[in-house]
Amino acid sequence: MPFDPSSLRHLFPILSQPAHGHPLTYLDNAATTQKPLLVLDSIQDYYQTCNANVHRGAHFLSDRATNRFEQARENIARFINAPGQSHIIWTKGTTEAINMVALGLEHLLKKDDEILITSLEHHANLVPWQQLAFRTGARLRVLPLTSSGEWETEFSHYFTDRTRIFSATQISNAIGTSTPLQTMLDHAKQQSAFTLVDGAQAVAHYPIDVQALDCDFYVFSGHKMYGPTGIGVLYGKNHALEVLIPYQTGGEMVRHVSYQATEFNILPYRLEAGTPHIEGALGLAVACDFLLSQDRPALFAWEQHLANHVYQRLSKAGGMEIYSPEKHTTLVSLSVPNIHALDLNAYLDSKGIAVRAGSHCAHPLMAQLGVSGTLRASFACYNTLEEADRFCDVLIEAIDLLSDE
Ligand code: PMP
Repeated sequence: MPFDPSSLRHLFPILSQPAHGHPLTYLDNAATTQKPLLVLDSIQDYYQTCNANVHRGAHFLSDRATNRFEQARENIARFINAPGQSHIIWTKGTTEAINMVALGLEHLLKKDDEILITSLEHHANLVPWQQLAFRTGARLRVLPLTSSGEWETEFSHYFTDRTRIFSATQISNAIGTSTPLQTMLDHAKQQSAFTLVDGAQAVAHYPIDVQALDCDFYVFSGHKMYGPTGIGVLYGKNHALEVLIPYQTGGEMVRHVSYQATEFNILPYRLEAGTPHIEGALGLAVACDFLLSQDRPALFAWEQHLANHVYQRLSKAGGMEIYSPEKHTTLVSLSVPNIHALDLNAYLDSKGIAVRAGSHCAHPLMAQLGVSGTLRASFACYNTLEEADRFCDVLIEAIDLLSDE
């Protein structure tokens, strides 16, 4: 195998502790990844050497903090190949970024306009659009997966001259299926719709080029790509960011304020009200550098290899329904008839194995699959083949045990 996870596992000391008396096997990476020491060090270093508020003060520490903060923005721009730092808006994460766009575009929507999403969306890329539709009289439409888990061969008819916004995930957090994004984006652009890509599940796994994607907005969370929690990114094309009405107002995002009026700041600051998550931004930039320093195709191939290995072993074992695609995914999502996913989760946890059981914030998708939830094992670059096998062994053991009850 071309990639050896032990080459970077030492960067993640959290993984070397026991859990319930067993080696910790962390397979809940689609929920959040662990953070390499470099990221942890950058946060400590920030507080030890340059803690001050950014953009405001004119003193040594403030200049230092501001420089690092703005340098971090440059790093993010490079990481996703944005044309420049003014396209990068700091957010709390994917959820805040999508809400920012939904609220910011509200003034452009009217009754009977259409907002199109897919049936794979996380609630974060559904509820903000649904609520926007309620408020404006627009219609929320859903481009569905077929019952066999494929995309319809012809879906262009979902994109109409009323489609004003198309928002889709790159990869489903719940079942690992990818969207044929480029084709969908092309259809959306033909209708002059705004396009948003939810990259929350993609950024950790493969390089993102927002200019090649040519979407209006691209959003992601730091904590799912080895960065800190509470920090994320809204990338936008210039014209797309310019039309957004800031959903929060206050300090930092203004140029001049009187009692009569406010002159807003230029991008990216216009959309960033209040003191930002400075150490989060610095940590995220380090997480980007961590990923850029790796052989990313090799990491991605390894993560897919682990998921495929689990898929093969579990389909051979039988007695369960697997919802993830066989290939080209980094997670395996499944259910076992007559055994609740939470019971399997509890058994796995008792053996030190961390996975996720539940609806994965995708109730409509679960309803379409006909289950209340699934059990999901999701892989990151530090996971080993032994961990993948332990998951399979203990899951099969749990199914045997719980079926007898
Ligand atoms: N979209 C997808 C595809 C996700 O996986 C998640 C997190 N599970 C989100 C959006 C929301 O991300 P956050 O909670 O970091 O805002």
